[in-house]
Amino acid sequence: MTLFEKIIAREIPADIVYEDDRVLAFKDINPQAPVHVLVIPKQSIPRIAEAADHDQDLLGHLLLKARDVAGKLDLKENGFRLVINNGPDGGESVPHLHCHILGGRALNWPPG
Ligand code: AMP
Repeated sequence: MTLFEKIIAREIPADIVYEDDRVLAFKDINPQAPVHVLVIPKQSIPRIAEAADHDQDLLGHLLLKARDVAGKLDLKENGFRLVINNGPDGGESVPHLHCHILGGRALNWPPG
């Protein structure tokens, strides 16, 4: 069971900001910006490179809920960034697909 599956199962506590039957959003434990939230599918997909074509609806839902959470956290006016890290070079550390929502400050580009 991955760390994020344990959060979904409430075996590990998290500061949850949104939940429905398909996704969960919670604050990142090591925030890289004033607002840093992770949105994850409840279905365990290890990473975006391993998503299947039939995950299309779930992935669309994940992005639209990231949009809603960003709005709920007042990030729409100044903007925000969505990030999905994939594999070692991408900086992925938890093998359960997650979309970072980062905001509350101007973010640099390109990322490090
Ligand atoms: P990534 O490096 O893209 O795989 O992102 C994993 C993220 O999970 C990192 O930003 C971590 O800070 C975050 N993280 C790890 N453990 C927890 C936890 N228990 N609760 C919330 N976020 C976590």
